[in-house]
Amino acid sequence: MAERFEKTLTLEDLRKKIAAFADERNWNQYHTPRNLLLAMTGEVGELCECFQWRGDNDQNPDAWTAAEREHLGEELSDVLIYLIRLADKCNVDLPAAALDKIKKNAIKYPAAVCIVQVQGSSLKYTTYETTQEKK
Ligand SMILES: [Mg+2]
Repeated sequence: MAERFEKTLTLEDLRKKIAAFADERNWNQYHTPRNLLLAMTGEVGELCECFQWRGDNDQNPDAWTAAEREHLGEELSDVLIYLIRLADKCNVDLPAAALDKIKKNAIKYPAAVCIVQVQGSSLKYTTYETTQEKK
C-alpha cells in the first residue's frame, strides 16, 4: 500500500506540540473536555462547508484547486488537533485506542462475511450477524 502521510511525525509528537502551544498561551484553563468537544464540533462544521453545495461530480478533492485542497487540509487539521487535545485531556491514549477499535471492528465486520455476503453493501452490521447466524 502506497504511503500517503508524512512518516516521521507521531500522534504523540502532535500531542506534545498541541499541549505546548496551549501552555505557552495559558489556554489550559479553557481546555476542558466539554469546551474541546464543542470546539471540535464547530471545526467539523467548517469541514462540512468544504463539501457543502458541491454537485455530485465535484466531491473528489483530487479535482479541486490547490487553494481548495489547502483549505480542506486546514479544516481536517483543526478537527484532528481538537481530537488529540480532547483525548489528551481525557487521559485516552488515542493511537492505542484507535488500534484497539480497529481490532474490534475487524471482529464486528469480518472481511470474509463482508466480501461474500454483503459485498459493497451499506447494510448495518446487525444484518451481517443475522446473515451469519442463518448459515
Ligand atoms: Mg477551522
